[in-house]
Amino acid sequence: MVLVVGAGPTGLSLAYDLVRRGVPVRIIDRQEQFTTASRAKAGVQPRTLEVFDDFGIIDRLLAAGTQRLPFRRLLRDQLISEVVPYEDKSPLPDAPYRRMLYIRQNDVEQILRDLLSEVGCEVERSTTLTEFTQTDTSVIATLDGPAGTEKAEFDYLVGCDGGGSTVRKQLGIKFQGFTDESQKLYVGDVEVDGLPDDAWYQWYDLERGLLLLCPLSGSRSWQIQASPSVAPDGTLPPPSLEALQEAVDRISGMPIKLSNPTWLSVTRKNVRMAESLRSGRALIAGDAAHVHPVAGALGANTGVQDAYNLGWKLARVIKDGADQSLLDTYQEERLPIAEWTLRTSCSSADKIAEAVISGTGGAEKGLTEETNQLGLNYRDSSLSWNLAERAADDSPAVRAGDRAPDSPGPDGTRLFDVFRGPHATLLGMGASCREALARVESAGVAGLRTLDVQERPPAYGYTEDTLVLVRPDGYVGLVTTAEDSTGVLRYLDFLQGPHAAAGRD
Ligand SMILES: Cc1cc2nc3c(=O)[nH]c(=O)nc-3n(C[C@H](O)[C@H](O)[C@H](O)COP(=O)(O)OP(=O)(O)OC[C@H]3O[C@@H](n4cnc5c(N)ncnc54)[C@H](O)[C@@H]3O)c2cc1C
Repeated sequence: MVLVVGAGPTGLSLAYDLVRRGVPVRIIDRQEQFTTASRAKAGVQPRTLEVFDDFGIIDRLLAAGTQRLPFRRLLRDQLISEVVPYEDKSPLPDAPYRRMLYIRQNDVEQILRDLLSEVGCEVERSTTLTEFTQTDTSVIATLDGPAGTEKAEFDYLVGCDGGGSTVRKQLGIKFQGFTDESQKLYVGDVEVDGLPDDAWYQWYDLERGLLLLCPLSGSRSWQIQASPSVAPDGTLPPPSLEALQEAVDRISGMPIKLSNPTWLSVTRKNVRMAESLRSGRALIAGDAAHVHPVAGALGANTGVQDAYNLGWKLARVIKDGADQSLLDTYQEERLPIAEWTLRTSCSSADKIAEAVISGTGGAEKGLTEETNQLGLNYRDSSLSWNLAERAADDSPAVRAGDRAPDSPGPDGTRLFDVFRGPHATLLGMGASCREALARVESAGVAGLRTLDVQERPPAYGYTEDTLVLVRPDGYVGLVTTAEDSTGVLRYLDFLQGPHAAAGRD
């Protein structure tokens, strides 16, 4: 049994990924009521949409949000520019989702909770992890819940408990970086009269401050972000409807009326990451492991992808008897991504600032080809084996560690249809892979699906027939020659314990 602490997007994704693999889970959250705060409304990045496609909830998400939102930039009441980010990003054969989905974070969480409920797991509310201890074989957690305090034993504990993570603190894991108290913004959800809800309105006024008003799909609310007016003594008035209205009047000068606030908060620039993601049987993921500016829209996305990296590995250890050292590859693969996330979000914030100062743009400048996260890879991981040199360093051919691209088959079935679910997939790309595919099949490897891809998909870029093993999280683990069933079986053996089996050399 795994204890997942925290039911934000990271914890919910991890809990579902474990339960669908047959791992018993308890997921707790200290909140009494699920939050209705919109937070990451912009939004779900293309790579995370692929994760949610694998979870089978993509249609629900697309129905609840929008992939088209004009960014309308104003100075006072004058229109400066209007752009529609991602307008030119139509789906491609190798990438069905190339546009960000604008959707309230609480709607994403509701869809994930429904999914979790469908597989028989409910979030335990009003339940707080207060402390834990661990031995070589288990974790003992103290939980304060509606029925009182209990001590419960688990195989593993994962702290998906946000930036202030109790789990991280109790493990003594340093959260290195900085907090800039000088860059504070009011944020909240309010109703807005005086603007049509057909665009995200953005004022970057170098004299008066920043004001962003974004309509939220499927509700009357808008998310507001605004520069506060600092009091003469240097203090910041607490966020309130009056303080937000003052910011709107000061910055827009337009007859815009705010009402019915359902969430009010203050954000500050916080750039920090954990120095490690695991200590024994306790791990951390999501904001518990990394926090950074919202520019680039990466926080919740990176948390969901942490969970997706960890879920199948924990399941292999708990259910399939893989060596615990497989869990070391979670940190090996995700710490560099955490670093990338901090770097990329800070660079997005800088790009926005430069554009604002030069008057050439706004928030759209923070959304780049990188922030869609489709190009992230684990090429340097010990789980990435290139046994056949199919790709020179400068070749576009897919290498071990890359995201496995989608591709339509002759009968209309897509590779993503084949990948969907908790299994790994062995692709035989080209007719000369058939014998090797049959040999692997006859070995009866659990949790592995094989597919004879008769024609090599252009998206993979191979000029010779090739065996490709796609991990359960949609990254290529192994690339080898058409006849190399031995290499495939050796790789699968390696997954049972990177330090317990013979390596790739
Ligand atoms: C205004 C704003 C805009 C944003 N925009 C974006 C965006 O466009 N794209 C994006 O990807 N991200 C964005 N983010 C960031 C995103 O909201 C976070 O990265 C995301 O919420 C992190 O998810 P998480 O599940 O890791 O943690 P959280 O969402 O913080 O969830 C942690 C949960 O753990 C619970 N918890 C904490 N301690 C305990 C305990 N001891 N016991 C039990 N439960 C506990 C908490 O109650 C909470 O529910 C934005 C954030 C803000 C504020």
